[in-house]
Amino acid sequence: DPVLVLFRHDLRLADNRALDAAVQSGRAVIPVFILDEESKGVRPIGAARRWWLHHSLTALSRDMADRGASLLFRRGPTRAIVDSVVAETGAGRVLWNRRYDPAGAATDAALKDHLRGRGIDCESFEGQLLHEPTRLKTGSGGPYRVYSPFWRALVAEPAPRPPLEAPKSIRGHDGALASDSLASWALLPTKPDWTGGLRNEWTPGEAGATARLRMFLENAIDGYGENRDRPGLESTSRLSPHLAHGEITPFQIWQAVKDAADSAPGHDAEKFLKEVVWREFSYHLLFHNPDLAEKNYNSDFDGFAWRRSEDLLEAWRRGRTGYPIVDAGMRELWQTGWMHNRVRMVCASFLIKHLLQDWREGERWFWDTLVDADPASNAASWQWVAGSGADAAPYFRIFNPILQGEKFDGDGDYVRRYVPELSRLPNRFLHKPNEAPALVLEEAGVKLGREYPVPVIEHAHARDRAMSAYNAMKGSA
Ligand code: FAD
Repeated sequence: DPVLVLFRHDLRLADNRALDAAVQSGRAVIPVFILDEESKGVRPIGAARRWWLHHSLTALSRDMADRGASLLFRRGPTRAIVDSVVAETGAGRVLWNRRYDPAGAATDAALKDHLRGRGIDCESFEGQLLHEPTRLKTGSGGPYRVYSPFWRALVAEPAPRPPLEAPKSIRGHDGALASDSLASWALLPTKPDWTGGLRNEWTPGEAGATARLRMFLENAIDGYGENRDRPGLESTSRLSPHLAHGEITPFQIWQAVKDAADSAPGHDAEKFLKEVVWREFSYHLLFHNPDLAEKNYNSDFDGFAWRRSEDLLEAWRRGRTGYPIVDAGMRELWQTGWMHNRVRMVCASFLIKHLLQDWREGERWFWDTLVDADPASNAASWQWVAGSGADAAPYFRIFNPILQGEKFDGDGDYVRRYVPELSRLPNRFLHKPNEAPALVLEEAGVKLGREYPVPVIEHAHARDRAMSAYNAMKGSA
């Protein structure tokens, strides 16, 4: 009888333990991707990830066909779909790689009980994380709340296992099985099609992920520690959307970085791996705090006096706040589905502290627009910036968006790329156009207050207001 392999956020052939076990068994393999938006607690993916998913599945399906198997597409609650494919094929064994988001983990745990109850063999494997979220424990046996000891505990463990090769061939199933067409899922937007910028930037799929990693190791890891904060450079790996879809694993990344360590200076390699481990830490936090995307980790923040404003939210989303670094970031996000990490921090801080909008509003916008939207990293990072999270930045560290721009985009390459209406302003005023003399604005063709907005709020005033709101919260907590 054939073996069923479920695909979810692991859209790859290499280093795929569930697939590998199925191929090793020598039986026919039926790979199925289930689009499950119905099981309890599932948070449907946003529009940017839907675009990515379509293309990633197209690539996976082709790679699978090249090796002799055909990937089935089914839509519905995981358990019902598995039951029907088992009934159609007589499969006696179901394999999958584990998920760690709360709804995914609960669905899979229930599936395991259900299948075993029916006498069907099933097994799950690790792969998405270097260590299961339950594995690393503090001295007193609890979960970590602070990153540095988490990192130390992780590197004190045996080195991560070497990644598995992709199977050279896969024995497919002989019978014809019904499969949805990808087109029928309508994952791609049509009216309007806003995905041109995404197409220019990304190659979803396993081959695209491998190429990104290779390019990063060849061109950018040397100097990563210095350059990673400069959004105008291509100085980070841009592996995040590939990781979010499981087109590459942290095991593959770890190994490739270690192999390259001869050419890359040790401190750059270590800095990069430390970032990869922030993702692990975020999953550790999410696993132990399943409502991380909805509830303040630090409940003092439940009493925070947010000042909801649809107009301000909209100015932020569209990149029309009057602060060039914030606007460049929000437009990069809208155009490419990704935003540089430094700028994510600045934009998030601006929304939360300058505009006093609830961090959950920002988390939701990122969830919809990021190609790397990740249930753990997004929620943990928003709470980190808000000051409500574990090991968070202290609330009173309020980024000055002008100084951040001047410091990390001093030559203005980034702002000029995404805010072209300011491109002719001299560097001196690029991050504060409203301080430029009228003549300078005129020469640069900048129509302040018309084409480009004046700041929606003045920085020093916003800073004072944020501190008062914070002190009021602390006073009442
Ligand atoms: P690199 O610098 O090349 O780092 C390599 C990998 O390490 C990344 O691909 C990512 O998997 C991991 N990583 C790096 N920084 C972080 C971090 N701070 N937290 C967790 N993992 C990290 N990352 C996401 O993957 N998905 C999200 O939804 C997400 N939302 C964020 C929201 C906010 C408000 C902030 C401040 C950060 C968010 N991040 C998120 C973290 C970080 O910005 C991105 O992982 C990073 O910018 C991805 O680019 P890269 O692959 O070039 O990173």
